[in-house]
Amino acid sequence: MKATRALFVAHPAALCVSTSLGVAQTEETAGVRGKQSVPFPGETGRLKFTVQAASNSHESDWELLPTLANGVEEFGELSQETRALAQTQTSRSGAAAHKGFTFAGTDGRTYSKAIPGQTFHAARGTVTSMISRRIAVVGGGAAGFFAAIACAEAAPGTIVTVLEKGPQFLSKVRISGGGRCNVTHACFDAREMTARFPRGQRALIAPFTRFQASDTIAWFAARGVNTKVEGDGRVFPTTDSSQTIIDCLLRTARAANVKIFTNRGVERVVRSKANTFELTLSNGESLTCERLLLAIGGCRTPALGQLAVSLGHSLEPPVPSLFTFHVETPWLRELAGISLASVEASVPDTPLRERGALLVTHWGLSGPVILRLSAWGALDLHALDYGFPLHVNWLPHSNAETLANELRECRITQPGRLVVNTPVPSLPARLWERLVIASEISRETRWSALSRSMHHQLTQQLLRTEFPVCGKSLNKEEFVTCGGVRLSEVNFKTMESRICPGLYFAGEVLDIDGITGGFNFQAAWTTGWIAGRAMAAG
Ligand SMILES: Cc1cc2nc3c(=O)[nH]c(=O)nc-3n(C[C@H](O)[C@H](O)[C@H](O)COP(=O)(O)OP(=O)(O)OC[C@H]3O[C@@H](n4cnc5c(N)ncnc54)[C@H](O)[C@@H]3O)c2cc1C
Repeated sequence: MKATRALFVAHPAALCVSTSLGVAQTEETAGVRGKQSVPFPGETGRLKFTVQAASNSHESDWELLPTLANGVEEFGELSQETRALAQTQTSRSGAAAHKGFTFAGTDGRTYSKAIPGQTFHAARGTVTSMISRRIAVVGGGAAGFFAAIACAEAAPGTIVTVLEKGPQFLSKVRISGGGRCNVTHACFDAREMTARFPRGQRALIAPFTRFQASDTIAWFAARGVNTKVEGDGRVFPTTDSSQTIIDCLLRTARAANVKIFTNRGVERVVRSKANTFELTLSNGESLTCERLLLAIGGCRTPALGQLAVSLGHSLEPPVPSLFTFHVETPWLRELAGISLASVEASVPDTPLRERGALLVTHWGLSGPVILRLSAWGALDLHALDYGFPLHVNWLPHSNAETLANELRECRITQPGRLVVNTPVPSLPARLWERLVIASEISRETRWSALSRSMHHQLTQQLLRTEFPVCGKSLNKEEFVTCGGVRLSEVNFKTMESRICPGLYFAGEVLDIDGITGGFNFQAAWTTGWIAGRAMAAG
């Protein structure tokens, strides 16, 4: 048992007045030591007692120090002066009437505190000012943990509690990046970084000037987690294990005295007249706090965003982002497993056009270029019910003219060879073969026999193969939801609600989503950090 903090310390002003607080105990028990459960977590504040003892009635001003440690109160010895006062009172007023205190908080609620082994006279009081603030973080994911730590580290006296509805914290971090956790992206310019966010681009510029990828890397390094940058800019812990990130966040949160609870879903939040939030938890408990952070992740169904809506916010409708395309073209499916370093994919009659690596799968097309297209086109493609034509340019660095020259060159240099057997250098042989056949050029056709129309057909296939997309699959590696709390309703300097003071947001609950590559976690760290600091300061 630790005995480091006094439960009550007499306010200096109170020491010079005669108090009627009585402790009907002998001298040895006046020094209070012990642990007990408390009905309210970590109350601190000024206590103004009007003590109604039988013989007299006095006012006394006392300070109540922070006390919570996981719902168990730890307290140390009463100070010398307090003990002296208590003894004086014991001898004067005799038998005690009540064991403990009852007092009204500034939030309008009545609190009581029983102290075993201590018997007080009918002590009643009012908390005339709250010294520290209670902050509840709903959601034990990346954003919630980052915010809780930022808050607790910036304001050590603050009582920060993380409430997670699931049985585990940080479950998405665990599965992220294929179990390696792609924590951020090596992109150190705020504007350049925001260009990777189909939604939230403008809103994130200022936040990224305050906490960006280099800060994330430094934050983890300062807490013992080294990271490495891969060739494509993605940043991972050097251990290649997401567990390293989880361990770091849990360890840091505990060190900062953040109270963390699993299996505590927040089912209802009511804003009280006293400007506090009254939370009803899934296990029947309730909790009061002055600041509330919603870091509940993506609002995949409207029900998941209900807490925000109940506090006055509106949601952009949830729509999947980062998905792969179903294509039923048989010859394409036969190529499953083929990957190309760079193609250009576009959706006709839309501005959607992306370049990058492509992977042919058993159900269609995937890879970074498709994921990017799906993120930027999340709303448009949803409106098309995922049925649309897709154009693929297999040779994005060529144009019609250079390609025509290239094909003419083939005809001159290898007139007797079969077209189907002589691919252009940058294409895999299997893909070339399929493209030649899709151009209605027979397997027996030699370069010397390639007609003008065949030449045209082949050029079309190489620069613009059209695939009918007929559905989507969620990407196993990473998927996010676009939609969520409307950005115009949040002040991005603090992440505080513009509608409900004291309410904050961080992470994927907001209508923000990035493309794949570590950008979504960066948004969670940044918005969490800003919200945490603001809650500590505000
Ligand atoms: C498979 C997969 C892999 C990914 N890999 C990467 C990657 O490598 N890099 C990257 O940048 N991004 C990745 N992402 C995206 C990234 O995981 C998210 O953007 C990020 O986790 C968002 O963090 P968050 O804290 O906002 O939400 P979450 O991580 O979803 O956390 C929200 C938490 O809130 C809890 N919660 C919800 N409602 C309540 C409630 N009422 N009461 C209490 N708790 C509640 C949830 O249980 C959850 O634990 C991946 C996503 C997936 C699905």
